[in-house]
Amino acid sequence: MTQKTKQTPMMEQYFLIKEQHPDAFLFYRLGDFYELFHEDAIRAAKILEITLTSRNKNADNPVPMCGVPYHSATEYIRTLVTSGYKVAICEQIEDPKTTKGMVKREVVQVLTPGTYMDEKGSNSNNYLVAIEQIGGIFPLAYADISTGELRVTILENEDAVINEVQSLQSKEVVFSSEEYPPIAQLLEQQTGVLISNQNTQVTTANYEELLEDIDEEKCESVLKILLDYLSITQKRSLSHIQKAIRYKPDQFLKMDAYARRNLELTLSIRDQQKAGSLLWLMDQTKTAMGGRKLKQWLEKPLINKTEIELRQQKVESLLNHYFERMDINEALSSVYDLERLVAKVSFGNVNGRELIQLKTSLEQLPLIKNTLESIDEKVWQSTLDKIEEMPELRSLIETAIIEDSPILITEGNVIKDNYNDMLDQYRDAMRNGKKWIAALQQQERERTGIKTLKIGYNRVFGYYIEVSKANVQHLPEGLYDRKQTLTNAERFITPELKEKERIILEAEEKSATLEYELFIEIREKVKAYSESLQQLAKQISELDVLQSFAEISERYHYTKPTMSSTSKAINILEGRHPVVEEVLGKDQYVSNHIQMEEDNRILLVTGPNMSGKSTYMRQVALIVIMAQMGCYVPANEAHLPVFDQIFTRIGAADDLYSGQSTFMVEMVETNQALQFATERSLILFDEIGRGTATYDGMALAEAILKHLHQNKKGKVLFSTHYHELTSLEKELSGLRNVHVGAIEQNGELVFLHKIMQGPADKSYGLHVAKLAGMPDSLITEARQILHRLESEAKVTKDSVAEADDTTQLSLFSEVEVDLNEKQVINEMKDLAIENFTPMDLMYQVNEWK
Ligand code: ADP
Repeated sequence: MTQKTKQTPMMEQYFLIKEQHPDAFLFYRLGDFYELFHEDAIRAAKILEITLTSRNKNADNPVPMCGVPYHSATEYIRTLVTSGYKVAICEQIEDPKTTKGMVKREVVQVLTPGTYMDEKGSNSNNYLVAIEQIGGIFPLAYADISTGELRVTILENEDAVINEVQSLQSKEVVFSSEEYPPIAQLLEQQTGVLISNQNTQVTTANYEELLEDIDEEKCESVLKILLDYLSITQKRSLSHIQKAIRYKPDQFLKMDAYARRNLELTLSIRDQQKAGSLLWLMDQTKTAMGGRKLKQWLEKPLINKTEIELRQQKVESLLNHYFERMDINEALSSVYDLERLVAKVSFGNVNGRELIQLKTSLEQLPLIKNTLESIDEKVWQSTLDKIEEMPELRSLIETAIIEDSPILITEGNVIKDNYNDMLDQYRDAMRNGKKWIAALQQQERERTGIKTLKIGYNRVFGYYIEVSKANVQHLPEGLYDRKQTLTNAERFITPELKEKERIILEAEEKSATLEYELFIEIREKVKAYSESLQQLAKQISELDVLQSFAEISERYHYTKPTMSSTSKAINILEGRHPVVEEVLGKDQYVSNHIQMEEDNRILLVTGPNMSGKSTYMRQVALIVIMAQMGCYVPANEAHLPVFDQIFTRIGAADDLYSGQSTFMVEMVETNQALQFATERSLILFDEIGRGTATYDGMALAEAILKHLHQNKKGKVLFSTHYHELTSLEKELSGLRNVHVGAIEQNGELVFLHKIMQGPADKSYGLHVAKLAGMPDSLITEARQILHRLESEAKVTKDSVAEADDTTQLSLFSEVEVDLNEKQVINEMKDLAIENFTPMDLMYQVNEWK
């Protein structure tokens, strides 16, 4: 570091501080700017698209530098942090005016992706995760510092860890030292999170207290990593962090990242936006807290029947009381983000306006409570018990804080009159002084006869008497002291005026200081309510989600599902895919029954491409998820078992995103289900085996079906275009065929999107040829060929089956037919009819013939 030794004192200070924060962009405060130097400057200039300059341009080693204005730094910081970087804010902690030599500087906060409180992103949580590896287990803790939520769990394997981090959509994971366990690298690769380390010695202030309810030692140390990292980066009070809660992943309906993505729970697959997702459809929440809670519930549906039913009862009671629900909605619309307000109180950056928001929120409580009581006191009892109205807090803010107080708390006008005697006295002095000055203007006009004489004020000269040049001659000599000459006017002062000025300014300064002190005092009083407010936030956010359930259930005519923890039968009448229905419009959407008896384990769905197979299967999963969230479901009637896990393999265009080949992804996802599904799981397999050669794929598909059937892996919906698989119905007692119907309408084939019993009609290609107007004789001949091929295939199959017990081979053994005929049949099957005009088809069939 030869460079360093030659530095100016300022750069020396810079390097000392930068050394402490090698992994963050150091925003070094210089007057009205934050400056970045060296490598930081070069990189930040690129990311932020700002000009790169240099300090000491003419020196041998000019220092690369770039800067952002202090007052607009927020946006730049936001860009860096949301792009996955850390930013260390280094402030001047001494007043430059009163300091000789170098001003002391210190990093006051480190902003990181996992601890960033984005004002714009208040509809979702930002979770910082900490993980440890102890032998073969993984304690995991997470917190959202903007809401104070703190949770901890113990996971059994790496898959579970990756799944949890993905489900939390976390952006940063902290480990305790730079020697990361292998899971760190896996996480980085598979989820793209920032990996941070925490090995600085600290002890978080209220650490013991936060751990009070945690009995497991293994959880303690991971919580310590998390909390210490928070206190090191935030460097401020974390008093709003709530007591740690221990949870178990199997308390909730499990879905792996594939399933969540495929089912488009919170993001659409196509453009990774909320629009088009289930969350988008379901979100009719009125508060930011409710929005976050809904997302949490969607990520973690329940598996406890009683809890599900409790939510259902609440939704039902809201649905039965339309006007009361509207009252509640209106009240909720005036409730602000209590969780974040509490965080701001704790951090000490709350302002007067925000306290007024808090008061406005509290004002809604009596109405909310009364209304809930009148709807159904019993169902809402525990909510009612937990909503504390906090009248003292409300009246404290009401008597103390001015409604439209300014954003800054240092400039006065925050505290109301009559709140504090001293403040009132200062204000009297100010007001009297100002009155006196206003009177003085009138008095001097009369005395001098100059009607345009006026009294003004500026920061440099204070109060002055101003007389225009033209009128100065009318002033008696020596009446006032001349202070300043302008082009058109002269400004004067008098000793009396200055005396009043002194009183006014002193009072102003004192009152501003006093107001600030009073505000801090009030803020501390509010802080004492943190826990109650967080509890309130929890109740309000849940109420908000439940009213959102009621809202969509009413709007889209959903029904209350009946849940069973014993039966395994599914019975959904007139079920719909909620999002497709909303996008297509209710009239366009064809509803479908989904019926699977207790012992009907597999539903094999056949039908041509684009007929609606995958929509049908997804709708089952979405109905299950909505039901286990406690919401009503898009159907006319629904009886459902409570599922423990959902697995999916649904073909998607973006399989290539992770660099794995489509088929590999397909097999990995499929294997998850084969390994981990239980009797109470729901499995959706869409076109398994499509990613490889036909026979290969078909063989796998059949073997997978048999495996699932044999091992009782819960309820399976399996779509395929391998018509051959439909014959498995004879062999596997728990497998049923259904197909998506198509009809002929005005000479055209129309997909009905209607699910019907039995396998799809295999002579579908012939139908189309007929529709295209081919000669009857040709169609008849084609039908004969088809029959012959089928019976030959059957003979082969039966004989192989007799000879060898590994029956799945039989389906794929070569059918011995005339090669030409076989080719025709294959071509017929593969024909993409939707791309053909009737004329084209005619030529094609002619050729076959
Ligand atoms: P498949 O899986 O058979 O290829 P999809 O499920 O992807 O077919 O459906 C294809 C298209 O058909 C969808 O984009 C949707 O617009 C429409 N569709 C599917 N199911 C229905 C339905 N029940 N009612 C109306 N339109 C539907």
